[in-house]
Amino acid sequence: MAAQKTQAIVIRTFPLKEFHKIITFYTPDFGKVKAVAYGVKSPKSKLGGSLELLNHGTLLFQHRENRELQNITDFNLIDGFDVVRSDFTRITYGCYFAELVESIASEGVANPEIFDLLRTTYQFLPHADDVPLLARGFEIKFLDCAGYAPELSRCVHCGSDVQGATANRFGIAFSIRYGGVLCVDCKNRDGAAFTITPGSCELLKMLRKSEWERFNRIRASTRNHQELKRGLGSFIEYHTERTLKSLRFIENVLD
Ligand SMILES: [Zn+2]
Repeated sequence: MAAQKTQAIVIRTFPLKEFHKIITFYTPDFGKVKAVAYGVKSPKSKLGGSLELLNHGTLLFQHRENRELQNITDFNLIDGFDVVRSDFTRITYGCYFAELVESIASEGVANPEIFDLLRTTYQFLPHADDVPLLARGFEIKFLDCAGYAPELSRCVHCGSDVQGATANRFGIAFSIRYGGVLCVDCKNRDGAAFTITPGSCELLKMLRKSEWERFNRIRASTRNHQELKRGLGSFIEYHTERTLKSLRFIENVLD
């Protein structure tokens, strides 16, 4: 058993009996960390309000190898993203990002890029002009960091370029099964592939590489929004093997 200190973001909380909670953190050094916060719901608990979903802080815990649940020693809040919490749409999307990370990321595997992506996304979230577009940006960046990124530049079957006049005229396809785009000639190889315009494919490449500071300069049409939401949503469902509750909530309440 070793005392460990790391930055962490709360990505899931779950009640345990009357006074305790199971907290899942995302950390740069240990990936996902699941831990018990004993007595956290008691009025005397010093951890009281600090372990809310999305909170970013410094976590101290006793690390025990091969144990599913770790033991929290302390959590010092760095940022509670209060501006995000004051806006229903933004906090709802914030919870979706946490659930997405929780559903795919591994326990005990360091991935500082995922941690930085989550932290910088929550910092930028209050300033985003187009929140659903930010969500598509988060999805493609997260898939990239987690090693599931789809191929967007070349046809995943024949390797040819997917841009050009023919592609513009006939459309290309986004295939979950092949893990990327199929050109005009190959798009019928996967009957379940979605048709997308080459413009949406280019936009997705732009979302993938753009820093958050430049994000509000990117514009998307209604069609771009529809195509990217459907394509990325299905791609994520395929990899998580489940429908994310928060995404379903966004579709029912916000869309
Ligand atoms: Zn092809």
